[in-house]
Amino acid sequence: MGDDEVEKLLRRGGDWLAEHPERELIANRYLKHQRRLVRDALEQLLGEDDEEQEEAREKSAQEEEQAEARLSLNEQRLGAVMAVLKESGARRVVDLGCGEGRLVQALLKEKQFEQITGMDVSHRALEIAQERLKLDRLPEKQKKRIQLLNGSLMYRDERLAGFDAAALVEVIEHLDPPRLAACERVVFEAARPPLVVLTTPNAEYNVHWENLAPGKFRHKDHRFEWTRAEFHAWAQGMAARFGYGVRFLPIGPEDAATGPPTQMAVFSLAGQNVAKGGSQ
Ligand code: SAH
Repeated sequence: MGDDEVEKLLRRGGDWLAEHPERELIANRYLKHQRRLVRDALEQLLGEDDEEQEEAREKSAQEEEQAEARLSLNEQRLGAVMAVLKESGARRVVDLGCGEGRLVQALLKEKQFEQITGMDVSHRALEIAQERLKLDRLPEKQKKRIQLLNGSLMYRDERLAGFDAAALVEVIEHLDPPRLAACERVVFEAARPPLVVLTTPNAEYNVHWENLAPGKFRHKDHRFEWTRAEFHAWAQGMAARFGYGVRFLPIGPEDAATGPPTQMAVFSLAGQNVAKGGSQ
């Protein structure tokens, strides 16, 4: 990366790039976010170096970048969870704390998943999920694959039994210690699916977000955000206590010092083949 990269970008994009509304983003990407190069390129493109405009542009590019990073993190998380579920061969999946139904919607697109259940304590979230899925307008055959349940992870629930896999995506950090303790037993002891895919923020990664003051959580409803060591200790404790195996997978761009933005644990019941219907 150097001045010749700036030249290359200008040679290739000179005509259309100056007009392009997303020129900052494109130049940023192309020059791998090296601020000086990006500034040089934009100055040459626009033939001006007004400090104020420059700063405003940089700020909006940064904001856009952050919004994009957040968006793509959601997508990466969904993609990572989907990949594990697909690979497992699971056919009946329950999404615990399904929120507005993004995972349910993604699962519906894959024929492999025959029974998809979303469960949440929030009526409002389930209403939005129902709209997102256009449940009322789905053909009967598709509709039969989906079930949205109002319920709480704090109470044993027979409706949660018999699934090949359960997902808990960004849910545990919303539970305070007594609720989390109850949820652990509901999931790993009562429902006891052969596969549990669980994600939670990695607190160590938060230093990368300029707008997040040190020690603050990513969301006001979070009761905790764990470091990698804390999450591993918790997940290994769950695995040992309830007789599951556990492996860990990173989600999002991994940074050498802080690890990835999101951490994922995949719990599986020893000796059970998810694809064959698990414990059935
Ligand atoms: N899994 C979704 C939503 C994450 S937000 C996604 O990834 O988009 C956390 C969700 O957990 C919220 O929808 C909230 O209503 C739900 N939740 C919180 N406490 C719960 C409980 N005790 N039982 C079930 N769901 C709960």
